[in-house]
Amino acid sequence: MNFHVMTLFPEMIRNGLEESITGRAMNKNIISLNTVNIRDFSQDKHLHVDDYPYGGGAGMVMQPGPIYRAFESIKAQTGKEKLRLVYLTPQGSVFNQSMAKDFAKEEDLVFLCGHYEGVDERILEMIVTDYVSIGDYVLTGGELPAMVMIDAISRMVPGVLSNDVSAEFESFSDNLLEYPQYTRPEEFMGNKVPDVLLSGHHANIDKWRREQSLLRTRKWRPDLLEKAELTKKDIEFLDKNPIS
Ligand code: SAM
Repeated sequence: MNFHVMTLFPEMIRNGLEESITGRAMNKNIISLNTVNIRDFSQDKHLHVDDYPYGGGAGMVMQPGPIYRAFESIKAQTGKEKLRLVYLTPQGSVFNQSMAKDFAKEEDLVFLCGHYEGVDERILEMIVTDYVSIGDYVLTGGELPAMVMIDAISRMVPGVLSNDVSAEFESFSDNLLEYPQYTRPEEFMGNKVPDVLLSGHHANIDKWRREQSLLRTRKWRPDLLEKAELTKKDIEFLDKNPIS
């Protein structure tokens, strides 16, 4: 999968994603990262890419021309006339795991990172296919949201995680939070790993994990539990274990 990011801060994106699991996936050519500096497409002699808002008001607005030309360069590079383009904005749909799975089906995905007060509306209307927010708060720019999305989407691309099963059964995969995890030592400062995990009895371990998922989802994210597909057994278990 190829990620293309239109940004005023390409280093920030590269530094954030060229490490760890996404960095390894790039080295193995499972994903690629193409950062496009919008300022390179300014035709202003001082390389300006923003200007005052029409109608007045605080801050500056990113101009449409440099963004249009930056996007044209990505189209030329990919040889594709139609590309899915995400504009990161606090006004968009809030990003979640099922959106990550859906975006991971694309071969090329373009991100536009805004800055200042945002971007001239006309260029957004011309090129954006998806408006996405990473939460109900306002950041200074779209770079961190783009990195968050690329990280989550990459994990859905086959081969990026060493064990694809780990993405299949983790939090949100079925609207349940993942069960608690433990590793060595068996006892830490007087606290023991639950016996069942040491029993080697796989059916009991699966049952315990499912029950833990149900309990913590009900405790921390009851909104998710409402959307989860629960079996008769799950419902009986929750009824027998009311919140204390
Ligand atoms: N004036 C804009 C508004 O009220 O909607 C906010 C502009 S914000 C200061 C600058 C840029 O940061 C935005 O254009 C967007 O790209 C990015 N941004 C800020 N918060 C975000 C969020 N929660 N999710 C995604 N992008 C965000």
